[in-house]
Amino acid sequence: MFRRISQFCKQLFEDNQRPTETTPAGLSLEVVARKHHAISRKQISENATKVLYRLHKAGFKAYLVGGGVRDILLGLEPKDFDVVTDATPEQIKKLFRNCRLVGRRFRLAHIVFGRDVIEVATLRGHHVDSGEKVSKTNAEGRLLRDNVYGTIDEDAERRDFTVNALYYDISDFSIHSYGGGLQDLDSRTLRLIGDPQKRYREDPVRMLRAVRFSTKLDMHIDPAAAEPIYELAPLLQDIPAARMYEEVLKLFFNGHALNNYELMREFGLFEPLFPLVEAVLRDDPNGPAAKMIKAIMRNTDQRVAEDKAVTPAFFYAAMLWYPLSQRADDIALESGLTTYDAFYAAMGDVMEQQCRSISIPRRFSTPAKDIWQLQLRFERNQGTRAFKFIEHPKFRAAYDLLLLRAEAEGGHTAKSAAWWRSFVEGSDEQRSVIARSTKTSKSRNNRRRRSPKKTNKPAQE
Ligand code: ATP
Ligand code: MG
Repeated sequence: MFRRISQFCKQLFEDNQRPTETTPAGLSLEVVARKHHAISRKQISENATKVLYRLHKAGFKAYLVGGGVRDILLGLEPKDFDVVTDATPEQIKKLFRNCRLVGRRFRLAHIVFGRDVIEVATLRGHHVDSGEKVSKTNAEGRLLRDNVYGTIDEDAERRDFTVNALYYDISDFSIHSYGGGLQDLDSRTLRLIGDPQKRYREDPVRMLRAVRFSTKLDMHIDPAAAEPIYELAPLLQDIPAARMYEEVLKLFFNGHALNNYELMREFGLFEPLFPLVEAVLRDDPNGPAAKMIKAIMRNTDQRVAEDKAVTPAFFYAAMLWYPLSQRADDIALESGLTTYDAFYAAMGDVMEQQCRSISIPRRFSTPAKDIWQLQLRFERNQGTRAFKFIEHPKFRAAYDLLLLRAEAEGGHTAKSAAWWRSFVEGSDEQRSVIARSTKTSKSRNNRRRRSPKKTNKPAQE
């Protein structure tokens, strides 16, 4: 595939008749005619093609842009197709019955075809001299609102990487390549458009995108784009937690979790997202937490590769397990609460703290807490209680976490995991033998309880 692009670009440089132009801000532009590039309409989804043609026929400019063009040229299947046009969101809405206008920071049109959504944006311009209503930055230079419309040249100047500033023009099937995007695709270079410091300050998420694209597309980050990341990484703390939630999914559920994690730690990008986990890793760089995180990443990648479901509930339960147990120990020590009560209090604390940087929706944080609570039952429920326990709807996820803990910790946890593994994997008959030959251990909770007073907390079973 790599050779295919090289050949394509070689041919492009030899044959392209059009001289390179420059945008007003000094970004280079090459327009590559249909006969000199490899994108055909067949590679673009039917729905995206429909949208492009409808806009074109109504007299608007319409381009496929970003990942769609980039990935087709790389021989990959695009995740989604993004369209840009000179039609305003209101004009787009008039053209499509199935159109929804969304977004505040970026006002966008979503053209909905059942489960497939084509995102259509209006070409963005520069935001100098424009009023607060359309564009706004904060003290660090971060863009808070960004709805100034402009030309394709201006739009290109505002994209993140040159390989993302490739536009496929539906009017003549040419590709507009800005800032040497095609050449960078060929040499596998992720190069930021404009001054890296300024571009990261405008939107710190671009640092995470640099990591994500470099692992996903097997590209190296241009030194000028890599250099400021470590210093600017703390700016991620200011990104709204809801946006961060989406970015984290893209980083860890895209099949490259392990590579992304390692690169993020190298660049200091992990800490602002997972401060509690980073603290535990720092205390004990080769301890169970470090092993656990790598195991989660490896497992997630494997599941994605096998097309199996991955859920944020399990992911966050596992990521935060060691910060949680440490917090529970601290609370128990400080307050004299029972193991269970301290654990219960720690669950609330840890989840709340994590949600300050990444807002985990309740539909995932609640089952994550279930997975945590069930960890306490693995020891107590060996024996005949195991039959009831494995019926619990969250048993499988909790058991998977137990296996990860066993891998990370060894010792007592590994022994417990081994018991459960033989029970879970055993036939009905084997299970009976295993369960009956095991003496149920008394709850540690009950043994350590200092006061016999009843609490209102839900029972563990
Ligand atoms: P993928 O969809 O595979 O993750 P993509 O490049 O299409 O990759 P999107 O998030 O879908 O990424 O964005 C589409 C395009 O919008 C990008 O290619 C880029 O040109 C532009 N873009 C997205 N986010 C930013 C950003 N934070 N700053 C500047 N440009 C951006
Ligand atoms: Mg995309």
